[in-house]
Parts: sequence; structure tokens; C-alpha cells
Amino acid sequence: MIQSELLHQQLSFSQLPLRQELIKSIASLNYENMTPIQMQSLPIILKNEDIIAQAKTGSGKTAAFGLSLLNNLKISFFAVQGLVLCPTRELAEQVSQAIRRLACLMPNIKIINLSGGIPMKPQQDSLRHGAHIIVGTPGRVLKHLKSATLDLTQVKTLVLDEADRMLDMGFFDDITSILSASPKQRQTLFFSATYPEEIKQLSKQFMMNPKEVVVGTPYDEIDIEQRFYEVTKHTHKFSLLKSLLLHYQPVSTLIFCNTKQQTTDVTDQLIHEGFSAIALNGDMEQVDRDLAVLRFANQSCSILVATDVAARGLDIKELSAVINFDLAFDHDVHIHRIGRTGRAGNKGLALSITTPADAQRICAIEDNLSCPIIWGNTNEFEHSHATRLVPEMVTLCLALGKKDKIRPGDILGALTKDAGLAGNTIGKINITAMRSYVAIHRSHVDKAYQYLQNGKLKGRKVSVRKIS
Ligand code: AMP
Repeated sequence: MIQSELLHQQLSFSQLPLRQELIKSIASLNYENMTPIQMQSLPIILKNEDIIAQAKTGSGKTAAFGLSLLNNLKISFFAVQGLVLCPTRELAEQVSQAIRRLACLMPNIKIINLSGGIPMKPQQDSLRHGAHIIVGTPGRVLKHLKSATLDLTQVKTLVLDEADRMLDMGFFDDITSILSASPKQRQTLFFSATYPEEIKQLSKQFMMNPKEVVVGTPYDEIDIEQRFYEVTKHTHKFSLLKSLLLHYQPVSTLIFCNTKQQTTDVTDQLIHEGFSAIALNGDMEQVDRDLAVLRFANQSCSILVATDVAARGLDIKELSAVINFDLAFDHDVHIHRIGRTGRAGNKGLALSITTPADAQRICAIEDNLSCPIIWGNTNEFEHSHATRLVPEMVTLCLALGKKDKIRPGDILGALTKDAGLAGNTIGKINITAMRSYVAIHRSHVDKAYQYLQNGKLKGRKVSVRKIS
């Protein structure tokens, strides 16, 4: 493998050989400067070379490969020219949305999401009409290949996103089969937070002289305040968790548990204690998982309790704290977890609850830190009168969606112009096939609810409910 030369010169997006539509959509997304991973990888990728990029979630890696995929497309040729494999359905959904946003000024680009957990039939119907880019999870993509509903023979660019996580999840054989089903003459891009042996093996087999790009350390220690707390028994963990939440009062908290059952138990106890919490694990139906992520991201729920697998790739901005209810088994996973807080220049907070049984894992974490672990002391907490944090927003669900040709602007217009709400009281608007979700500031939610219940949206009566 050739080590890439680091590109030190400050390039701007407009200096790259990108289509004008892409330069304009980058400007409309307010991406002023390239992130380090974009700066280092885009010039190489746009020369059509293979790359292994060590980049974590939050680094801007999706735009790096998304721009390359879109730039390479022959729009008039209605065949699958780009394929992105992701470890989870949530990440696949986020990646397809991110690529759609970048493609917003390129008319007639079709991007299909092929993830598991939903029926094959609508995906097959959609594939029958052709697509330019497929984003999906390895299991489902392979299923389509085997049932001959997906043709990869025209693929020009193939991306493995969070490659190390996919391999951790046991997708090695599926990935190998998919790579073998695409043409030898193609560009292959691996994005991965770590660089385990299996990735080296895959790259040897499937890549052509890949350039390696590494951007700094996986996370910036100085941007994250890490504190460890110990309890003597596992059964004391919940009471410590409660104390941490009351003391630190994080606006949004991602709590990690090592088992699906634990995520449900912790969530139930938190709700019972009056906290706003929701679980995210692989046993939940896909619609419930999507709704959990949506409510956490739109700030109408302040705590998300997840397993590593379920939380993989979540792109949640302004995550105030990560709490390890259970310490990760592996140091890399620990780093990946805590790297989710403290993004975009904000200082993050990572709290870990430990028991004496975690001694070995704590040593492994400490070995990789530049300074000794800081142990917190709950005796210093003064929160006897502390109240549970109430989320700023409330989600309203409307029984109209993309199928009814509803767009975010329709909902925004109805609430600001017709219902008279100020724009800053309205948060994220998410529209799915059948439903729309809008986050409204808690103090204005009743007004919005009443208007929507009695008024009309695009000339139609709409059924609305509050989600809590
Ligand atoms: P990712 O690592 O791909 O999940 O991206 C993390 C976040 O960074 C996403 O919300 C992107 O919209 C955002 N982002 C990507 N590229 C840029 C850029 N050049 N400037 C500002 N934000 C960016």
C-alpha cells in the first residue's frame, strides 16, 4: 500500500473538479470549508483512485464519498453506478439522505435505500424502475443480488462505510460476495474508524493500489471531559446513573448498554423515575427505531439508551453527554462511543459507570490515554432538589406524508403564516412516506396542535397527535 502524501495546501470546494450543481448545493448546505478528511481524500478520490480512509462518524466522510459518487454519475444512463454498504439501517438511511441533499440540484438522480427490516417487495418494485445509486446493508443487498433484482455489473464506485463495524458484525462473507459481483474495473473506497486485519485482507483482494488517509487521532482528548465512577455491584448502577443525570443535567444524553435487554430495563427505570428516555435496540421494529432516533435528534426526548450496534453511525448534533452504563468490551469501541460527544468545537462529556469486574478494561483504556483516568466522586454532588430535565421540544405527528406530496415548507408555512407561530418555535420537520413529524417548542405546542387539529394543510383536514 502506498502511504498518501498529506495535502497541506488549503483547498476550497470550488477548486475541486466538481460539477457546478454540486458546488452550488455545497454552498446551500453552508459548508464553507472542507473538513480534514474531505481535504485529504477528495482530491485523490476525484482522480478515480482507491482509498482507505480512517475517519470517524462526524468527520464529514459521507460528503467526501457522496460528492465523488455524484460527480462520477452518467445521469442519462439509468443503471446502478454507485453502491454504498453500511453496517446498520439507520446509517444507510442517513447516508442516503445526505447524498440526496448533495444531489438536490441534479435533476432525476435516483437513490434507493436497500436495508433489512422492511419488506423486499417495495424495494424490488423500486429497483425495477432503475436507480443510479444504492445505499444499503450487506445482508439485504446480497439478498437482492441472489434474487436477481439487483444488477451491479455497471458499478463504477463502491464504498464501504464504517467498514470495521461491518466486519465486527460478521459481514465479511457478505461483503466479499458483493464485491465479487461488481466489475473488476471500478473504484473502491473504504471508510473506517480503525484498521483491523480483515480490512487489510479485503483491500489486498479487492483494491488497486489504495492510498491511505489518516486524519489525526480518532477523537480529540482535550475536547472531551472523561470521568469514571465506580459502584461495588451491578445492581447499584442505576442509582449512580440517576445521580449523574441530575448532577450534570445534560440536554441530550446517549447511554450505552452492552445488551438489548439492558437498554429496555434502563429506559423503563428512567421513565419510571420521571426522565424523558427512549430505547434503541435491534429487537425493536424498524418504525419504532426510526421514531426513537427522530425524537432524540429533534430534541423532544433527552435520553437515548442504545446498544453499540443500534447506535452505529447516528449523526446527532450537539450531543451533550455520552454515558457508558456498561463499559465497552473493547477499547476501540469505547473511543468510538465517547467520540460522539464534543463535536463541532463544543466540549463533550463522557461518563463511565464501572464495577470492580471492569478492572482490566479500565487498564486498557488508561493505557491509551495521555494522562491518568479521572475518577469522579458522587459525594460531591449536590442535587437533592435537582429536577429532571424536560426536553425543550415536543413532537407532533401528522397523518400525511410524502405519498400526499407534503413538503417541509407546507408544514412550516401553515404553522408560521396561518397559525401565527414564530419560526424559531419550530424545530426539525421529518417527512416519511405516510407521516410527517414536526418538533415544536414545548411552550407553543398547544397552539400548534390546536391549529393543526382544526385547520387544514394543503387544503386537507389532517389527523394530528402528540408523541410522548
Ligand atoms: P459525517 O461524518 O459524514 O456523518 O458528517 C457529520 C456532519 O458534518 C454532517 O451533519 C454533515 O452535514 C456535516 N458536514 C459535512 N461536511 C461538512 C463541511 N465541509 N462543513 C460543515 N459541515 C459539514
